[in-house]
Amino acid sequence: MRKFLLSIAIVLLWAVVSPAQEAESNFQQDAWARIPESDAARVEALAQEYKDFLRRARHELLAVAEAKRLAKAKGFRPLEEMERLRAGDRVYVINRDRAMILAVVGSVPLVEGATLSAAHIDSPRIELKANPLYEKEGFVLFQTTYHGGIKKYQWASIPLALVGRVSKKDGTSLDIAIGLEGEPYLVIPDLAPHVDRPFRDRKQQEVLKGEELDPIVGTRPDAEGSVMGTVLAVLEKKYGIGREDFISAQLALVPALPPADVGLDASLIGAYGQDDRLCSFISLRALLDVRRPKLTAMVYLAANEEVGSHNVMGAGSSFLADTVLALQEKAGGGEVTFSAHRRAMRSIHAVSADTPTAVHPTFASVQEKTNAARLGGGVVLKRYGRGTDPTSEVLAKVRALLDSNGIPWQTSTYKVDIARGGTLGRFLSDDGMDVVDIGAPLVSMHSTWSLSSKADLWWLYRFFGAFFAME
Ligand SMILES: [Zn+2]
Repeated sequence: MRKFLLSIAIVLLWAVVSPAQEAESNFQQDAWARIPESDAARVEALAQEYKDFLRRARHELLAVAEAKRLAKAKGFRPLEEMERLRAGDRVYVINRDRAMILAVVGSVPLVEGATLSAAHIDSPRIELKANPLYEKEGFVLFQTTYHGGIKKYQWASIPLALVGRVSKKDGTSLDIAIGLEGEPYLVIPDLAPHVDRPFRDRKQQEVLKGEELDPIVGTRPDAEGSVMGTVLAVLEKKYGIGREDFISAQLALVPALPPADVGLDASLIGAYGQDDRLCSFISLRALLDVRRPKLTAMVYLAANEEVGSHNVMGAGSSFLADTVLALQEKAGGGEVTFSAHRRAMRSIHAVSADTPTAVHPTFASVQEKTNAARLGGGVVLKRYGRGTDPTSEVLAKVRALLDSNGIPWQTSTYKVDIARGGTLGRFLSDDGMDVVDIGAPLVSMHSTWSLSSKADLWWLYRFFGAFFAME
């Protein structure tokens, strides 16, 4: 009897000290099995919206344009047009057309807390050099360099689109997206197996070298016998671009293949640029559904993460702090003290959203499987160690948020001494925020066509919904 009473006492004590433990654990569960039948159509609809976004948003310029279009349709307005901000207002700020912050104003002031998801809208790609056109062996080609970590051999013999912006001396700019809507493609030619014997001993990283990533631009001579003449005439006539206009252009070569379902069960999505337009789109999509939050909810879409988050479009810039200050001023109706601004920055609950690498079926040995993320395993809580993790107290709150909302989740820590990952989270923590790294996993990450799971997209969307509703 005494033993029985003691057990009751222990059970009661447990219930008092750890109420959050009551929520059922959703750690390492099957993300598909957790989707109720009644949500199946919504999972498919979200996947379709995501594919539509990826099809258009192949560059940060195009991603910002697309995010702006979606936001305007859901009642968001430019912050600069707003005199005063009130609870429930929906605003956005665009930084040089290449980065963007969107916010739904909360019912309490920013110094009392806000939620922020930051993700990057740039993806690994090939870029044109400043003076790209040259002639060789009867071909006109582009000289290129690259942005982010690519496996160069993947970029040969696939259709490429040319996207970005050309700015003229007269102050006008021209946005370009050639190869996405039926125009010709550009292609980096590969060498036939009949003649590649002298190159077969090249290491994997040198199958194609950086200076060998030059796509064919033209081959037809004009009346004077000049292929360059033909190419320059086409550029001038079709697009109004002269040779020196490339110097003030930002043009990228990206895979032209549209996103599509993968697998006979259509469980996966294959697409270029999922790192990290996946988290960018899903966080944006969840914010579009936010109505009257207690805490101001924000989504930050940053460029240049793949090259270190530098420059004025990267997360290392003052764009976020400047935007939070502007939100504070417009909500409070006047100037904000430095200390009030700093308090607001420190009070932000931040998620650095990015895609980790998932277990690969054939090369599973590169992961330490106890701590590896899997496609269809749900939302990933990333713990990369080396001082990048948030405090244990913050991690516990995220577990509670995931479990109490019934969201299947998993963790990711890369195999020690084999792999490393980085995110833009460090730029947020530099500003005094507790930052949690969250994402959905990819197979073939940083390739020309990576793979994600529709189930993971869905649960990441549900996570952001719960996160933005935090009090
Ligand atoms: Zn990334």
